[in-house]
Amino acid sequence: MKNITVIGAGTMGNGIAHVFAQSGYDVQLFDINEAALERAVATITKNMDRMIAKEKLTEADKTAALARLATGTDLKAAVSKAGLVVEAATENADLKFKIFKDLDELAPADCILASNTSSISITKIAAQTSRPEKVIGMHFMNPVPVMKLVEIIRGYSTSDEVCDAVVEMSKSLGKIPVACNDYPGFVANRILMPMINEAIISLHEGVAGVAEIDAIMKLGMAHPMGPLQLADFIGLDVCLSILNVLHEGLGNPKYAPCPLLVNMVTAGKLGVKSKEGFYDYSNGVKEAPVSSQFK
Ligand code: NAD
Repeated sequence: MKNITVIGAGTMGNGIAHVFAQSGYDVQLFDINEAALERAVATITKNMDRMIAKEKLTEADKTAALARLATGTDLKAAVSKAGLVVEAATENADLKFKIFKDLDELAPADCILASNTSSISITKIAAQTSRPEKVIGMHFMNPVPVMKLVEIIRGYSTSDEVCDAVVEMSKSLGKIPVACNDYPGFVANRILMPMINEAIISLHEGVAGVAEIDAIMKLGMAHPMGPLQLADFIGLDVCLSILNVLHEGLGNPKYAPCPLLVNMVTAGKLGVKSKEGFYDYSNGVKEAPVSSQFK
């Protein structure tokens, strides 16, 4: 399993390709968009330079890692020798189902197919293939080169052998893999998203303002950032979509997304990526809470 293919070269895909290449694996990074591949290589180079400046990587390690990284837009060529494919394409169930059908056809028969999905059922993804025992969730955290956890999600049919192999491989990246079963939101988002939703409900009900809710949770719980700032960072559309998965998948009204979150996403206020969410980012950095009906 020295040959790894990463599908999707966005925020997560470039980070995943970075850690595999830096850990000695030969990496094929695939995307349908050539510009995304160019941006990914530029981001990986910039992030490695930052690590060199902090003396966490040498110039020679960077050169060797970049030499192990190839990019391409031909899926067949990208997966022809893969021992493991990690899919990190856009979070859309139909898109991922199609990708896994194609991977099942094109990747070697013994290749493990992993998805970095935040919320789509691994069992459903596995059901698109003729090798459900070799399909697994490998949920890296953002930013991938920095965050230690890999949440390993066992689909209904994932074999012990495949789970063990992916756990060992995650350790070889310097990560800490932790396994769980495939139920909506897995563990990380099943617990994180209700907390974020409750923070938005507290704001909506006027319990406290944006800055106060974040300060109380940050200082009181020793969290590195408050839940509203974290929601802006993740993307409010992403938070809403995961809450909908929890609400529909678990059938419990406690997961119903707060109407304020729904309104903000409808209005295009998505957080950092749209330059406005609970805070203003129009100058590229987090500024005061935006002036809206709920401060
Ligand atoms: P992104 O939008 O930054 O990147 C997605 C990439 O997928 C784009 O470059 C796009 O061109 C590419 N793509 C679209 N269709 C494709 C196809 N058919 N084949 C190959 N590539 C295709 O998204 P992201 O934030 O990197 O998220 C990727 C995955 O990682 C999602 O499943 C998401 O849920 C998951 N995830 C995201 C985060 C996060 O914080 N961003 C954290 C954990 C997991």
